[in-house]
Formats: sequence, C-alpha cells, structure tokens
Amino acid sequence: MTHDRTTAPTSIVVFGGTGDLAKRKLFPAFFNLFIDEWMPKQFQILALGRKQYTQEGFRAYVLENLKEFSRNNNYTEEQWMSFSEKITFLNFDITDENSFLNLNDKLTAFDVACNKRTNRLFYLSVAPSFIDKVSVNLHKTGLASNIEKDRIIIEKPFGYDKASAIALNKLLNENFKEEQIYRIDHYLGKETVQNILAFRFANTVFEPLWSNRHIESVQITVAEQVGVEDRGGYYDHSGALRDMIQNHLLQILCMVAMDAPVEFESALIRDKKAEILKAVRRIKPEDINHYTVRAQYTEGVIKGDAKQGYRQEPGVDPNSNTETFVAMKFYIDNPRWQGVPFYMRTGKSMEQKKSSVVVNFKDVPNKTFVNGRNNPVPNQLTINIQPEMDIRLSFMAKKPGLDMTLNPVEMVFDYFECAPDSPEAYETLLIDALDGDSTLFMRSDQVEEAWDIIATIQEEWENGTYSPMHTYAAGSWGPAAADELLSRQGHRWLSTTVEELREETNGKTV
Ligand code: NAD
Repeated sequence: MTHDRTTAPTSIVVFGGTGDLAKRKLFPAFFNLFIDEWMPKQFQILALGRKQYTQEGFRAYVLENLKEFSRNNNYTEEQWMSFSEKITFLNFDITDENSFLNLNDKLTAFDVACNKRTNRLFYLSVAPSFIDKVSVNLHKTGLASNIEKDRIIIEKPFGYDKASAIALNKLLNENFKEEQIYRIDHYLGKETVQNILAFRFANTVFEPLWSNRHIESVQITVAEQVGVEDRGGYYDHSGALRDMIQNHLLQILCMVAMDAPVEFESALIRDKKAEILKAVRRIKPEDINHYTVRAQYTEGVIKGDAKQGYRQEPGVDPNSNTETFVAMKFYIDNPRWQGVPFYMRTGKSMEQKKSSVVVNFKDVPNKTFVNGRNNPVPNQLTINIQPEMDIRLSFMAKKPGLDMTLNPVEMVFDYFECAPDSPEAYETLLIDALDGDSTLFMRSDQVEEAWDIIATIQEEWENGTYSPMHTYAAGSWGPAAADELLSRQGHRWLSTTVEELREETNGKTV
C-alpha cells in the first residue's frame, strides 16, 4: 500500500523509550505505520531510557513486545529488519545535560545523512515530574528550536488541577511555541470518536435534530472492567474525576456538543471545542451532591472471579478517599443545549468494559400509538466507541403480523464489518503529529477549561462535607445513587443494544 503524502525526514525521540507506554503502544504503533507505509521515507527512532541495553538487546526487546502487543502480527522478516535498523537505543539521564549533548550528536548525524535539517518529534513518555527538566534542556540545547519542524508530544495527565495545568502551560510556552506542543488524549484518536464529526457535519439528516428541540438527554459512559491492577499507588493520588472525566469524557462531550466549524481545520475545530467547554455550567459547592456521585468499589465478582475491594488493593491507602467511580450531570449554557442534561459515568471494576455515547431523543409529540401495548420508545442514537465500534439508530417499526404492534428496530453501521483491522488510536495520533496536524490534540485553553469545570468538585471532594463516598460491588454498574441522579428527572441509564431495548419495551428492565 502506498499513500499519497510525503512526510519530511524525521527523527523521533522517545523519552521513556524503555517504559510501559512505549512497549505497549508506541513501538507497535510506529511499526504498524511502517508496515502500512505511512512512515516518512527517511526516519530514525531514538529510544531513550535509563536501563542498559546493547542495540541488539533493545531491538530484541522491541520485537518481543510487538509480538505481545501489536494489533498486527502479519509482517515479514524483511519488514522487521528494515524497521529495526532505524531504532537506536540511547542510555539517557534526563537530569544530566551531557545526555542532551549526546542526543544532539545523534540528531545532527541524521541531518547530515539526509543532507538537510530534518523534522524532530520529541515524545515525552515519562512521568510528569520530568517534563520540566526535559523542556528546559531541550530549549537550552536548542534541539527543538525550529518552530516549523520540531514538535513535542506531552502525555496525560496534563497537570493535577487547574493551577498546575496553568503552570505547565506556562513552562511549555516559555520553551516552545504553542503550535509545537501536542497534548495527547488517545481517546481523540479512536476511529469511532473521530467519526462523530463526520456523522454530524457530513450529513443533512442528523444536524437539524441535534439540539434541545429534539434531544432529551445525552449519556456518555466510559466503563472499565479492570480494577487498578498494579497501579494502585498512582491511582490513589488521582481518581476517576482527574483520570477520566477531566480529559476523555469532556473531550467526547466536545465532539458531541460542538458547533460546526466553518472548515475542517485545526484552529477552527479547536475553537469550537473550547467554546463548549467555556459554556459548560460550573457547579457551585453547595450543589455538588445534587450533580455528582462518587464511589469506590468493594469486593465483588467479575467474569466469575472474586475481586477484592479498592481499599484492599496493593498500593492503596486502606482509608483512601479516592473515587473509582463518578457519575455526574452537566448542563451547557448555550442556545443549542440549554436545558439538556449531559450525564457522564466512568468507573473501574464495572460489569463490562464499555465506552459509548447515547443520544436520547424526545418522546413522539403525537399520541397515535400510545396505548400500553404499543407505547413507542423514544428514538435513540448510540455511538459505541469500544469494545463494540458502531453507530446504531433505533426507531419504532410495525412487528410483521396482523396486529398493529410496534417494536424497536435499528439501523447499524458497524466498523468491524467494514474494517476489522482498523488502526489503533496511537497510530492516528502519531501520524498526525508527524504531519504537523494538531486537530486531534488539546490546546492549552481547552485543557485549562476542562480543569476549571471540575475545580470546585475537586475542592469539595477533598475538603468539603457535602458529598458522601458511595460504594458499589465490583462487577456492578455502580452505586444506586448513580441511578437516582437520573431518575430524579425521569431518566435512566440507557441500553446500547436493540435486544436490551426490546426487553425494556416488553416490560423487563435491564
Ligand atoms: P514507566 O514508568 O513505565 O516508564 C518511565 C520511563 O521513564 C522509563 O523508560 C524510564 O527509563 C524513564 N526514566 C525515568 N527516569 C528517568 C531519567 N532520570 N532519565 C531518563 N529516563 C528516565 O511510565 P509509562 O507507564 O510508560 O508512562 C509514561 C508517561 O505516559 C507518563 O506520563 C504516563 O502518565 C503516561 N501514560 C501512560 C500510559 C500507560 O498505559 N502506560 C497511559 C496513558 C498515559
């Protein structure tokens, strides 16, 4: 396969090249892009880390990880050999300026080999505490001084709260130009999330319905079946609000709620997203218990296996006050969305792994079919992000037969059917960063607004008295309070398949 694009020769520098993210996501993504001929014709990958490796040893380590983590194990020995010879391991200490001088030698040598100043992509796959040192040293040594050619990718978490995010933006902006900075949220690279914009803005039929005139509520769920596993120490200082709501869920909210940009152009799209975040109503401290529910998982059963409670997990404080589940209700104060609740929930150790957006349309305005047996179920648009990847529109239809009995049916667009081997989010994002396209990355104002939205909640949960910590059994859909958050307004968490919808219409709740 060849692609109609040319990316300039590039040096890719992975700080944290021996870390977990690099082994599970970054190297598999680079290799798949290479196999599919998306990588620049000339490139090198400099993997930096503190461990000691020979070049052969490091390449063998990458190959071993590809076998375990890559979506595609269908490659030839020749492909691997030509990819692997582009990888160089560099023993590196971020705190030592000499390491940066050594890196400079490698980058300059590549420039000489390519006979031009090549592009440079610096991937900061290291703990947030190192961003400061790396940025300052990159700036000092001039390694990323070319505004057009040099880009810096920053991983999540981007700050710990609003003040730290502002401080981090300030630090980055002192060392680089904003257009060089690529703040990654891998959810934005997912096919199904990107497709929300195509679905909304490239069709005539949906956008006119996309407002408070026709939509009753919107629900965004990102549920994980895994618990904190071996990351209890990290997670206990983070929690679901910081780890998921502030970034992934609010970014999905932007895709669902933003207005159409005049053109499909990075700055315009990011402006529209920032507008939504600015319009999200801030919750007052005394209202937090009304709008939010936080909870921790207790022992339970997942896929038939007993699961321990959060406070018993290794690395977690036995008296921990960190939430593993959040459900909340947002309003967006603009003319399109005034009065429409946006419900969000996310949690660990839940019944299923599931990320989805459900748009719940209003009841049919006429009473033609209202008579118990035929009560129409409001139309529902479901965008399943993972593990299912589809868009489903439910509508009522007559059941075949002599009676006039109605039944929900659905139209489905299924990604797996048309592209069973679609690229991973990191592949999409890396290719965009290589090409200098920042559309799917977060701008400084978006990040700060997102922190601002949750700031009072963070403060209240840490120091206040309004919000109790609920519990839920591992393997469930969360605490009863999360259902009450919706039922107060006559809503409930909606199913994402038509089979479940049908059961509901037959009087059984799921
Ligand atoms: P990790 O702890 O597995 O790896 C850290 C890397 O930093 C290692 O390569 C280590 O050699 C390097 N390092 C540490 N101290 C160093 C020093 N003084 N000099 C040079 N190198 C040094 O971390 P990770 O899980 O790979 O995470 C990396 C970043 O990605 C973090 O910001 C994390 O929050 C983010 N992230 C990770 C994941 C994931 O799935 N692992 C997911 C989302 C975001």
